[in-house]
Amino acid sequence: MRHLKNQEEEEDAEKFIAVAAAVARKATCVRARCGSIVVSDGEIIGKGFNSPAGHLESQRRCDFPKEGLHRKVTDKTCCIHAEQRAIFDALKNAPDKIEGATLYFTRIGKEDHMEKSGKPYCTICSKSALDIGIKEFVLWHEDGICAYDTAEYNLLSFDYQE
Ligand SMILES: [Zn+2]
Ligand SMILES: [Zn+2]
Repeated sequence: MRHLKNQEEEEDAEKFIAVAAAVARKATCVRARCGSIVVSDGEIIGKGFNSPAGHLESQRRCDFPKEGLHRKVTDKTCCIHAEQRAIFDALKNAPDKIEGATLYFTRIGKEDHMEKSGKPYCTICSKSALDIGIKEFVLWHEDGICAYDTAEYNLLSFDYQE
């Protein structure tokens, strides 16, 4: 993981995270509102926000308790994740540009303000980003914007402890 120190790189990241925040405003999950974009050579090739699978109200699980889910249920979050959507979108729009691309993620809270990200923990998204060939995963932490190599991001996500 590296903190972005180069001013130009940092300004670009701020700009892309602001786009991800704008995408997050479309989220319809009632637990959290997140946005993500995939960027290849400065071009946005995928966007995603979290909402029920297929954008279908019939699939909404936001108010369901997770505790009753069987251990074989691999993803206990209610909605499709913003990063998953951004990856699927990039696969549709520009499959030949995903290799080496960068994924940006953010979350917005009440009043639509962007919230700083905590440590990586979602192994669904970490595995997907790594497997599809995304090079870096970028988060804005309290102490600055950080870029993670996706292989490192996946290991950190599996090591997550509260
Ligand atoms: Zn939800
Ligand atoms: Zn995820």
